Amino acid sequence: MHEMSIAMAVVGQVEEAARAGGAHAVTSVRLQVGELAGVVPDALAFCFELACAGTVLEGAELVTETVAAHARCATCPRTWAVGMPPELCCPACDRATDVELLSGRELEILSVRWDDGPAGAHTREPIPEEA
Ligand SMILES: [Zn+2]
Repeated sequence: MHEMSIAMAVVGQVEEAARAGGAHAVTSVRLQVGELAGVVPDALAFCFELACAGTVLEGAELVTETVAAHARCATCPRTWAVGMPPELCCPACDRATDVELLSGRELEILSVRWDDGPAGAHTREPIPEEA
């Protein structure tokens, strides 16, 4: 499943950053997803929740920002919204050659928000477990 491998990769990257930053619990992850990245947001959200289980991301919210796909024609100065399904033929020249995709394939983590535990000087000490 495409979305599952993406979710696992995102969780892995965030986990690493969170650990390095001394995060206590990750609360939200903002992801930029291009229209042509081939990701179904609902499926990704579902897989993300599964991938987060048992990690520092457990219960984190996934916020996806969709990036509209745009293309540019090399023959004329025209740029256009590619849409879905993608229209890769220049609307002015009616040609699909020399078409450059400007955006729409993005798949990256924009930001991660986390709690780093209670504020104060004792955040780095281990918390004793109560019996
Ligand atoms: Zn054109």
